[in-house]
Amino acid sequence: MAWTDQIDRVLFTREQIAARVDELARQVRHDYCSLNPTLIGILTGSFVFMADLLRRLDFDLQVDFMAVSSYEDGTASSGKVRITKDLDRDVAGKHVLIVEDIIDTGQTLKQLTGVLADRGPASVRLCCLLDKPSRRVAEISADYTGFTIPDAFVVGYGLDYAQAYRHLPYIAVLKPQGD
Ligand code: 5GP
Repeated sequence: MAWTDQIDRVLFTREQIAARVDELARQVRHDYCSLNPTLIGILTGSFVFMADLLRRLDFDLQVDFMAVSSYEDGTASSGKVRITKDLDRDVAGKHVLIVEDIIDTGQTLKQLTGVLADRGPASVRLCCLLDKPSRRVAEISADYTGFTIPDAFVVGYGLDYAQAYRHLPYIAVLKPQGD
């Protein structure tokens, strides 16, 4: 069986993603080019998006990462978020832009934005590649959104299923598990 056999369909091609990341970078540049912001990537899912977005931003900025665990090896949310890697630098007084792969129920980002807001940043905003608004439980929305998607479990471009598929250059929907 090929490693891509569980893929049902491609949702966004690499070309569509690149075009959208170009647009997001233009918006972020417009809003942040004079603010020397700190971009915070939420590991692991955001690492590809973060790398592509960053390389389109030609102004002074800092990069940091946080890791949280919310999903284990499946597709269902535990609803709880634990910081497993904290920032390396203080964000007090800094303009913080959180870079995340996807907002699903919103619980992860609701908690994370609260944690970061308590550290005294000048501002905290959110840039998400994907948004699944139909699944929202926590009240939160992104300031910059790549694509709004239906309620399906997606992989690729950094997003995994049980640590697989992160290196797909496109975003795909998996077949329902058990097929
Ligand atoms: P939330 O707290 O918003 O429910 O979950 C956010 C996290 O759940 C994301 O950062 C991501 O790691 C994971 N997640 C939510 N939906 C999906 C999905 O469709 N595919 C993958 N691979 N991860 C998802």
